[in-house]
Amino acid sequence: QPFAELGLATPLLQAVADLGYTQPTPVQKAAIPMAMQAGDAADAFTDLMVSSQTGSGKTAAFLLPVLHTLIQQQAEREAAEQADWARRAAEAQAAGQPAPKRPKRKNPLLARHFKPAEPGALVLCPTRELAQQVAHDAIDLVRHCRGLRVANVVGGMPYQTQIARLQNAHLVVATPGRLLDLQRSGQIRLEHVQFLVVDEADRMLDLGFADDLADIHALTARRRQTMMFSATFAPRIQALAARVMRQPQKVQI
Ligand code: AMP
Repeated sequence: QPFAELGLATPLLQAVADLGYTQPTPVQKAAIPMAMQAGDAADAFTDLMVSSQTGSGKTAAFLLPVLHTLIQQQAEREAAEQADWARRAAEAQAAGQPAPKRPKRKNPLLARHFKPAEPGALVLCPTRELAQQVAHDAIDLVRHCRGLRVANVVGGMPYQTQIARLQNAHLVVATPGRLLDLQRSGQIRLEHVQFLVVDEADRMLDLGFADDLADIHALTARRRQTMMFSATFAPRIQALAARVMRQPQKVQI
């Protein structure tokens, strides 16, 4: 079954082809269609609990469905903006006035004042190295998506650089501690997170992130989907899943 049959947006299929992926891996084949399914609650997607090892292709299994929905939302916003501009241009022409300027994209890095970022999707990773790898994969996957921005939030990077990159990021890949630092100092707002992914949940608990996860869970209470990836479904992982997800579907490869 080729990637095209998973129903993903064209720019993602282009990126996947650029990366040389010909077939989805088993975890991608199982998780991507499930992640794109409507959930029980209105406006929600199905929550997923996936057991997967590093090397299985798990990163693309969660990034692709999340990016797909962000792309759709972005396309809808742009279409509305252009339609609004076309309407104002037609009105101006009818009134014999000069046409209004077409809306232009701004370079967020040139902004004088940094607004708090409000990402729509959040991926949590237990370590800085993993977060950087996941962010790198996400950047590869959005290369054909004009205007879709990915930011990486990890300890050890200069604060100002991170805050600048956060500006207008749609997808944030973070370690829990640094994310909460930025949230508490008002540099990032989590209210608009629609998609939450907890990658390597077992290592997350091993490293003592249970309280941070609980805080992030509470701060993103209005989200539409949660996905948890873990090497095992040990009882403590099941307990965490029960706390942060609604009737998750299980994917075990
Ligand atoms: P992961 O398990 O997410 O760490 O991915 C392991 C490696 O597999 C990464 O180097 C990915 O770039 C690669 N990969 C992911 N999906 C595919 C695919 N469908 N076909 C070939 N390689 C893939």
